[in-house]
Amino acid sequence: MSRIFCIANQKGGVGKTTTCVNLAAGLAKVGQRVLLVDLDPQGNATMGSGVDKRKLETNVYDVLLESASVAEARVRAEKAGYDVLGANRELAGAEVELVGLDHRNGRLRRALKVAEPDYDFVLIDCPPSLSLLTLNGLCSAHGVIVPMQCEYFALEGLTDLVNTIKQVHANLNKDLEIIGLLRVMFDPRITLQTQVSEQLKAHFGDKVFNTVIPRNVRLAEAPSYGLPGVVFDPASRGAVAFVEFAREMVQRLGSGAVTT
Ligand code: ADP
Ligand code: MG
Repeated sequence: MSRIFCIANQKGGVGKTTTCVNLAAGLAKVGQRVLLVDLDPQGNATMGSGVDKRKLETNVYDVLLESASVAEARVRAEKAGYDVLGANRELAGAEVELVGLDHRNGRLRRALKVAEPDYDFVLIDCPPSLSLLTLNGLCSAHGVIVPMQCEYFALEGLTDLVNTIKQVHANLNKDLEIIGLLRVMFDPRITLQTQVSEQLKAHFGDKVFNTVIPRNVRLAEAPSYGLPGVVFDPASRGAVAFVEFAREMVQRLGSGAVTT
């Protein structure tokens, strides 16, 4: 059975897409079969995986509207090492179109059920909102990975997300839980970040992943080359940390052997 995770945080620019793309590449590197689902109309995860969002014939929009299956709409991100169910601006329209349709929260879930046997991990990159698209992601998933920067308002911002996850758990998806909080763009020289990091550990305990993703410019440069940082510069500190995070995920879940 595959494990389906949303990368979510209702704030923009916190590192969701970078986490999604690099965790996908890291998992592929340690021998896992991965599907990345881009649920953000900006299509950054699609482009960052090396798939041109402007050239997609079918994408996640067609899957949500049930005019294509996952198998028909996915493409292979050859260099990145995983499959992509891509997104582009068309997806912004889905938000409105879904409102009038049956099972509007559960459409991605139904579509993924069919494709699940092909993958060990499905990672869903969510938009920076608690919209119908994000709800489709949360209804499909076994868990949520929350990337966060160790800044002053970080904990405050978490409350809304935690409440939404609780509501989805109670009403729509009994499987859903927070898998963990991932500290990203971390700079240990900044005292405040170290303090917030400690607060997170005190408050959330082992829900905070051991791996910490450093602030590393190579991760920020990689998307302009159409590659995850893990592939673009495997020796960079950011890439090494994401592969370490991939191993931590596999070990936590006990889902099969890590091959390299
Ligand atoms: P989100 O998807 O939450 O909006 P992104 O992953 O797009 O966030 O990240 C926001 C910006 O921060 C991007 O320009 C990205 O390249 C940069 N970034 C993300 N993680 C790191 C990191 N660990 N080190 C340096 N830059 C990063
Ligand atoms: Mg994003």
